[in-house]
Amino acid sequence: MIKKIEHLGIAVKSIAESLPMFEALFSSSCYKEEIVESEGVRTAFIQVGESKIELLEATNENSPIAKFLSKSRGGFHHVAFEVDDLDAELDRLAGEGFQLIHTTPKNGADNKRIAFLHPRSTAGLLVELCQEKSDESAISDVK
Ligand code: ZN
Repeated sequence: MIKKIEHLGIAVKSIAESLPMFEALFSSSCYKEEIVESEGVRTAFIQVGESKIELLEATNENSPIAKFLSKSRGGFHHVAFEVDDLDAELDRLAGEGFQLIHTTPKNGADNKRIAFLHPRSTAGLLVELCQEKSDESAISDVK
Protein backbone atom coordinates (compact mmCIF):
# COMPACT_ATOMS: atom_id res chain seq x y z
CA MET A 1 0.00 0.00 0.00
CA ILE A 2 1.24 3.49 -0.84
CA LYS A 3 1.18 5.58 2.34
CA LYS A 4 2.26 9.09 1.34
CA ILE A 5 4.63 11.22 -0.69
CA GLU A 6 7.93 10.66 1.11
CA HIS A 7 10.06 13.18 -0.75
CA LEU A 8 10.56 15.06 -3.99
CA GLY A 9 13.87 14.64 -5.80
CA ILE A 10 15.45 17.77 -7.26
CA ALA A 11 18.44 17.50 -9.61
CA VAL A 12 21.14 20.13 -9.18
CA LYS A 13 24.51 20.73 -10.77
CA SER A 14 26.12 21.31 -7.40
CA ILE A 15 24.74 20.67 -3.92
CA ALA A 16 27.43 22.93 -2.45
CA GLU A 17 26.27 25.82 -4.63
CA SER A 18 22.51 25.32 -4.41
CA LEU A 19 22.01 24.09 -0.85
CA PRO A 20 22.16 27.55 0.82
CA MET A 21 19.40 28.77 -1.52
CA PHE A 22 17.16 25.77 -0.76
CA GLU A 23 17.82 26.09 2.97
CA ALA A 24 16.77 29.74 2.75
CA LEU A 25 13.75 28.88 0.57
CA PHE A 26 12.43 26.32 3.06
CA SER A 27 13.85 27.95 6.19
CA SER A 28 15.19 24.53 7.09
CA SER A 29 18.69 23.06 7.26
CA CYS A 30 20.01 20.00 5.51
CA TYR A 31 19.95 17.12 8.01
CA LYS A 32 21.83 14.51 6.00
CA GLU A 33 24.23 14.29 3.07
CA GLU A 34 24.94 10.88 1.65
CA ILE A 35 26.58 9.40 -1.45
CA VAL A 36 24.81 6.45 -3.11
CA GLU A 37 27.67 5.09 -5.17
CA SER A 38 25.54 2.47 -6.97
CA GLU A 39 23.34 5.25 -8.37
CA GLY A 40 26.16 7.71 -8.99
CA VAL A 41 24.56 10.38 -6.84
CA ARG A 42 25.36 12.57 -3.90
CA THR A 43 22.20 13.41 -1.97
CA ALA A 44 21.26 16.08 0.56
CA PHE A 45 17.98 15.98 2.48
CA ILE A 46 16.01 18.91 3.84
CA GLN A 47 12.95 18.44 6.01
CA VAL A 48 10.04 20.59 4.81
CA GLY A 49 7.09 20.27 7.14
CA GLU A 50 6.00 16.63 7.00
CA SER A 51 7.81 16.05 3.69
CA LYS A 52 11.38 16.06 2.52
CA ILE A 53 13.29 17.47 -0.39
CA GLU A 54 16.15 15.37 -1.75
CA LEU A 55 18.80 17.26 -3.71
CA LEU A 56 20.67 15.07 -6.19
CA GLU A 57 24.07 15.77 -7.70
CA ALA A 58 25.90 13.47 -10.12
CA THR A 59 29.11 11.87 -8.84
CA ASN A 60 30.20 10.75 -12.30
CA GLU A 61 29.27 11.40 -15.92
CA ASN A 62 27.36 8.11 -16.27
CA SER A 63 25.07 9.04 -13.41
CA PRO A 64 21.34 9.25 -14.26
CA ILE A 65 21.52 12.77 -12.82
CA ALA A 66 24.31 13.75 -15.24
CA LYS A 67 22.16 12.46 -18.11
CA PHE A 68 19.13 14.34 -16.80
CA LEU A 69 21.11 17.60 -16.48
CA SER A 70 22.47 17.24 -20.01
CA LYS A 71 18.86 17.44 -21.27
CA SER A 72 17.48 20.04 -18.87
CA ARG A 73 18.40 22.87 -16.54
CA GLY A 74 17.73 20.62 -13.57
CA GLY A 75 14.91 20.99 -11.12
CA PHE A 76 12.17 18.48 -10.41
CA HIS A 77 13.44 14.95 -11.05
CA HIS A 78 11.28 12.35 -9.25
CA VAL A 79 8.56 11.82 -6.69
CA ALA A 80 9.06 9.18 -4.00
CA PHE A 81 6.16 7.40 -2.36
CA GLU A 82 6.51 5.57 0.93
CA VAL A 83 5.05 2.07 0.88
CA ASP A 84 4.48 -0.36 3.71
CA ASP A 85 5.72 -3.42 1.78
CA LEU A 86 8.01 -2.65 -1.14
CA ASP A 87 8.26 -6.22 -2.45
CA ALA A 88 4.47 -6.63 -2.47
CA GLU A 89 4.02 -3.24 -4.15
CA LEU A 90 6.51 -4.11 -6.91
CA ASP A 91 4.65 -7.38 -7.50
CA ARG A 92 1.35 -5.53 -7.65
CA LEU A 93 2.63 -2.87 -10.08
CA ALA A 94 4.34 -5.42 -12.33
CA GLY A 95 1.00 -7.27 -12.42
CA GLU A 96 -0.71 -4.02 -13.44
CA GLY A 97 1.71 -3.80 -16.36
CA PHE A 98 4.02 -1.09 -15.05
CA GLN A 99 7.60 -1.22 -16.22
CA LEU A 100 10.05 -1.49 -13.33
CA ILE A 101 13.57 -0.07 -13.52
CA HIS A 102 14.41 -2.15 -10.43
CA THR A 103 12.55 -5.45 -10.24
CA THR A 104 14.00 -6.05 -6.78
CA PRO A 105 14.53 -3.41 -4.10
CA LYS A 106 17.96 -1.89 -3.68
CA ASN A 107 19.61 0.19 -1.01
CA GLY A 108 18.93 3.91 -1.31
CA ALA A 109 19.83 6.97 0.69
CA ASP A 110 18.34 7.90 4.06
CA ASN A 111 18.04 4.31 5.36
CA LYS A 112 15.58 3.24 2.69
CA ARG A 113 15.04 0.30 0.37
CA ILE A 114 14.03 1.75 -2.97
CA ALA A 115 12.92 0.90 -6.50
CA PHE A 116 12.11 3.10 -9.47
CA LEU A 117 9.36 2.70 -12.06
CA HIS A 118 10.19 3.50 -15.66
CA PRO A 119 8.70 6.83 -16.80
CA ARG A 120 7.69 5.13 -20.07
CA SER A 121 4.84 3.49 -18.19
CA THR A 122 3.93 6.46 -15.97
CA ALA A 123 3.21 9.23 -18.47
CA GLY A 124 6.76 10.57 -18.15
CA LEU A 125 6.77 10.84 -14.35
CA LEU A 126 9.75 9.24 -12.65
CA VAL A 127 8.36 7.40 -9.61
CA GLU A 128 10.42 6.05 -6.73
CA LEU A 129 8.95 3.70 -4.16
CA CYS A 130 10.67 3.52 -0.81
CA GLN A 131 10.38 1.69 2.45
CA GLU A 132 12.18 2.48 5.68
CA LYS A 133 14.69 -0.24 6.45
CA SER A 134 13.74 -2.29 9.44
CA ASP A 135 15.96 -4.88 11.11
CA GLU A 136 13.84 -7.45 9.30
CA SER A 137 14.38 -6.02 5.81
CA ALA A 138 18.09 -5.47 6.53
CA ILE A 139 18.34 -9.20 7.16
CA SER A 140 16.44 -10.03 3.97
CA ASP A 141 18.89 -7.87 1.97
CA VAL A 142 21.68 -10.20 3.04
CA LYS A 143 20.00 -13.37 1.79
ZN1 ZN B 1 14.56 9.92 -4.09
